[in-house]
Amino acid sequence: MKRLLLSALLAATLAAQAADETPLDALPYTPSLDVTAMDRSADPCDDLYRYACGAWTQANPIPADQSRWSVYAKMANENQRYLWGVLAKLGDPAAERSPTQAKLGDYFAACMDEGAVQAAGLKPLQPLLDRIAALRDKRDLPGLLAELQLAAGSDRLFFSFSAGQDFADATRQIAFAHAGGLGLPDRDYYLKRDAKTLKIRHAYEAHVAHVFTLLGEAPAAAKAAARSVLATETALARASLSKVDKRDPYKTFHVVDARGLKALMPGFDWAGYQAALGTTPSQARYNVTEPAFFKALGVRLKAMSVADLQAYLRWQLASSLSPALGSAFVQANFDFYGQTLTGTPQLKARWKRCVQLVDLQLGEALGQEFVARNFTPEIKAATVEMTQEIEAAMARSIDGLTWMSAETKARAQAKLKAIVNKVGYPERWRDYSAFAVQRGDFFGNVVRGNAFEHRRQLAKIGQPLDRGEWGMTPQTVNAYYDAQMNDINFPAGVLQPPLYDPKLDAAPNYGNTGGTIGHELTHGFDDEGRQFDAQGNLKNWWTPKDGREFEKRAACVADQYATYTVVDDIKINSKLTLGEDLADLGGLVLAWEAWKAHMVGKTAESRDGLTPEQRFFVGFAQWDCAAARPEALRVHAKVDPHSPAKWRINGVVVNMPEFEKAFACKPGAKLVKPAGQHCKVW
Ligand SMILES: [Zn+2]
Repeated sequence: MKRLLLSALLAATLAAQAADETPLDALPYTPSLDVTAMDRSADPCDDLYRYACGAWTQANPIPADQSRWSVYAKMANENQRYLWGVLAKLGDPAAERSPTQAKLGDYFAACMDEGAVQAAGLKPLQPLLDRIAALRDKRDLPGLLAELQLAAGSDRLFFSFSAGQDFADATRQIAFAHAGGLGLPDRDYYLKRDAKTLKIRHAYEAHVAHVFTLLGEAPAAAKAAARSVLATETALARASLSKVDKRDPYKTFHVVDARGLKALMPGFDWAGYQAALGTTPSQARYNVTEPAFFKALGVRLKAMSVADLQAYLRWQLASSLSPALGSAFVQANFDFYGQTLTGTPQLKARWKRCVQLVDLQLGEALGQEFVARNFTPEIKAATVEMTQEIEAAMARSIDGLTWMSAETKARAQAKLKAIVNKVGYPERWRDYSAFAVQRGDFFGNVVRGNAFEHRRQLAKIGQPLDRGEWGMTPQTVNAYYDAQMNDINFPAGVLQPPLYDPKLDAAPNYGNTGGTIGHELTHGFDDEGRQFDAQGNLKNWWTPKDGREFEKRAACVADQYATYTVVDDIKINSKLTLGEDLADLGGLVLAWEAWKAHMVGKTAESRDGLTPEQRFFVGFAQWDCAAARPEALRVHAKVDPHSPAKWRINGVVVNMPEFEKAFACKPGAKLVKPAGQHCKVW
């Protein structure tokens, strides 16, 4: 249960490329309040987002290899260019390198050697394709499936099987079986019949057929195989939860024992499957996140012919691994997932895809290089202090709530106190020694990297929880709250200008980074996070009346965001975005309170024609100056729990009387609500 500041979909497409891009020796500097990004002709009381970001969006068109562009994305791109420089140096075998540095450099060099990848063609994938071709009897599926899942590094082969914290007891790590198996981002793509969805579905089927031809099928056979894949995925989609339901922890917590697991999918040899994964099959406790999905999968498996199964496995395997294959696979993958689905005109440069792969497969090794050069003890101390001030503001806020009983308040305080602050990087670095990297074998490295990570996760089953583990690499430009760990996590990559700016004063920093810290903290108390207690257990600690009072206040936010448009005729699905919208609002309110407390006895000055209070709000708004392609907005409206940038800014300040006062807004302005109608939860 992890709540991110930015969606994973977005994070995966972050960062751009222009033709003249080169590696960077150092991270470039942009101030956290950038007056050149503002459009002062706009009235902040009507549209703070345009006032703070109007010139930024003008000056920063979406690059050709991106579906979306933003302050975060631009920063992530610079971050990647910097890592490119680091990795290129480590890729020199003559350089002085530690064993870990050699692993990083060799992995990157193998990835960059496009000629070798191209020359190898389908050869590296062939042994796995041969294993699929050798399937004669469906009873042999479990062993084969385990092998392919270890290699593929995705949940695309029917489902995923891994470790997770028990919702009932967060100290316990048990086996989780998650629904998966789809090649499109959401069930709706298979089930809706409107023109835009149908167009994507047809393009998807054509893409699947194209991949089959790349694997050597004749056109007619490829088409038939694609039809069969679509039929299977549609059956699985029908049995999958919606994105809104997936946010409900009670809907994804269904513990069974080995017999219960077997009963969900009779005929599937779970013990053999787990043995093939290399994990002990005797665990008595499994969380099957979506039992209806596994039942439907069992029915489907029974109905499928061996040929249908083989087609499905070939498609999901080749699609999952296409970034590690030759240019025809890479291009086909981009043409559908990049261009058709999200409207991105151009494939990312190879160096960028390689940096992202290193981040994915050797992320904490790369993180050591990043942290050593870019995260000083001073930045750490200052951001830890800001985090503590924001937690203190939250404690005062809880105390002052008029709608919450003393009993629930005490439990909220206990939860707040138990939150662990992780700032910068992990205290203990991940050990990659079991991951063998070979300089001339890019495909092999990717597959071994996938298996290494999968086995690392599986090994946690039945083991004590490592509370020090991070779910993001230190160089990541993002942040998260984890409800079961009950921790907030701010990687070193996000604590850099133009977000956290050690050269600027408190006002924009509290608006920007303070708002982010408050955002993650508030996730512990949003509609989803509030269902977990101080220990990270899914346990109701609210009196029924306090729960209703919370829901009433959360509904104010949901009703407000439901009126906002994402693109064309699509409105925000505010049931999907509620947790993020609550975190955005709560986060900025806390940042404001923390800033005011921080400034007691200090003087804040006006600069650039802006008062300190105005600078707080402009600094806040500039965290998310952004633009997106309409196709990408359509995908995000379906799958992204975050509202579009404009509403993440304007939708927050419209609820803050402090904002109206800072800009002397008049009644009737778009961002002024009548007194008493402001939404406020925390
Ligand atoms: Zn969030």
